[in-house]
Amino acid sequence: MSAAAAPATASATTPGPVNAMSIDVEDWFQVQNYAGLIGRERWDSLPRRVEDRTREVLALFAASGIRATFFTLGWVAERHPALIRDIVAAGHELASHGYGHERVFEIGAARFREDVRVARDLLEQAGGVAVTGYRAPTFSVNPGATPWAHVVLAEAGYRYSSSIFPGPRAGGPVPLTPWRPHPDGVVELPMTALRLGPACLPVSGGGPFRATPHTLFAAALRRVNAAGRRGIFYFHPWEIDPDQPRMPGLSASRRLRHFLGLQRMAPRLARLLGEFAWGRVETVFAAELAAPTAPGRDAAGRDAPGGEALGREALGREALGAGAAGPNAPRPATPAPGPGALDPCAPAHDARGCNAPRAA
Ligand SMILES: [Zn+2]
Repeated sequence: MSAAAAPATASATTPGPVNAMSIDVEDWFQVQNYAGLIGRERWDSLPRRVEDRTREVLALFAASGIRATFFTLGWVAERHPALIRDIVAAGHELASHGYGHERVFEIGAARFREDVRVARDLLEQAGGVAVTGYRAPTFSVNPGATPWAHVVLAEAGYRYSSSIFPGPRAGGPVPLTPWRPHPDGVVELPMTALRLGPACLPVSGGGPFRATPHTLFAAALRRVNAAGRRGIFYFHPWEIDPDQPRMPGLSASRRLRHFLGLQRMAPRLARLLGEFAWGRVETVFAAELAAPTAPGRDAAGRDAPGGEALGREALGREALGAGAAGPNAPRPATPAPGPGALDPCAPAHDARGCNAPRAA
């Protein structure tokens, strides 16, 4: 198979829609699991493994003829500019994972603005290409807690965010399909989930992928595709690194979350790459990034019923109105519907909303 023949869909011999493949490029000690155990001031003293592991990812993609999106920390770009150049040279999309892996809901709008600006500058400098995609560390963009995030990203030159994880982490019901949470903000491409009864099943990679039997995960992604949705998969370079250092002091639950299934991750990824068609995020969602200009509009400019109600309800009334005080607060451009406009439990919302319990 020729990688040059189909830049976005190099695994095009695989039937089915093209899903988006992405990697969050960070080192093993920058994971949230280690926050509190490894201070940032120690980062530069620890053995860095991110470049070697990311090069393994590049080789895996090259062997499969796949192009993907690399959401990369500015901190990594600063120290490994040759790796950034090689990511771009291989035809992948270079995107931002912020600078220092700080959770968005913890740092506030002003520091977030600085973080995403610095990261974008460093990445563009190293890669020599425009960087317009963003993924928040630990999917910490939360419609309730960070209602300014999508506007700040637009002001910093980004076009899209892939930073919301439907389910409890989102802090409330959110659409399962791309939408623009604020008219002045970037498009959100939420991580893939499947609504099963009252639950939101993540179908997007990382720890939940490692914890799920492969055939079950593949069946769930096929179901997403059969419903007409394209998935977004993600993983980290440290997830294909079973020999990474073990730090003493990690709790049993965090140890399990971090190390579960690392031995099997690389072969499972190779299998997954062959089972579905994959492309870069900005390419797979090109229509959505080009078209929507208002909350709840789909790529053709039509009402996206669940998206509109959810967007205004979850972001307009609750977050933009109640949680966005201060000089950085964006203005909601559309009036919010009254209570009762949204019933995310209704089966009709299956394809668009996940009825998630509120995060504690
Ligand atoms: Zn991360």
